Amino acid sequence: MIHADLHIHTMFSPDASTHPKTIVEQLFAHPSIKAAAITDHNTVIGYYKVLELAKAYPDILIIPGIEVSSFGGDLVLLGVAEVPPQPRTVENVIDFAHERGGLVVAAHPYRAFGLGDSAKNYEIDAVEVLNGGCSRQLNILAEELAKAMALPGVAGSDAHRADELWTVYNEIQASTDLDEILRAIKRGLVRVAHTEKSIHF
Ligand SMILES: [Zn+2]
Repeated sequence: MIHADLHIHTMFSPDASTHPKTIVEQLFAHPSIKAAAITDHNTVIGYYKVLELAKAYPDILIIPGIEVSSFGGDLVLLGVAEVPPQPRTVENVIDFAHERGGLVVAAHPYRAFGLGDSAKNYEIDAVEVLNGGCSRQLNILAEELAKAMALPGVAGSDAHRADELWTVYNEIQASTDLDEILRAIKRGLVRVAHTEKSIHF
């Protein structure tokens, strides 16, 4: 079992401020969360910075990712360390991720820039049912969407600042291995949870 935060921004997102070093140090020091997906807006520069710094620390895993602003809404890709080309239609971005063995998550579907009910039209792999930046009500709607689509629900802090990290996380039935983690999420071997730090729940 591994605990992972699957939605984190670094200072390489235009609207975020967290230094890659802070993420690595906090992840290493965290009592239970040992994996973190770096999901900056339309860039993987921050992911590679975090990955490089993490090499010096044992027992933590940095999951490649990106939050893509597609025409239909925000998609978090997990297991993908490249920027999809334009035009970023929902279909194109999903195909891009799947061709690379990645997973597609409908990020905060009912907040601004979320896919909303249109998620039902696409081959997504999971729904973000617990987003650290969403109200409880919006997360409940997302949970209902996941149920309606019979898809796994995942959690991400969506931290844009250091003090927002690790508010929510996933308990994944996998070891500290990227492929195993992606397979487990796809199969629904994942449970979402929140820490006491979280203010919304
Ligand atoms: Zn985000």
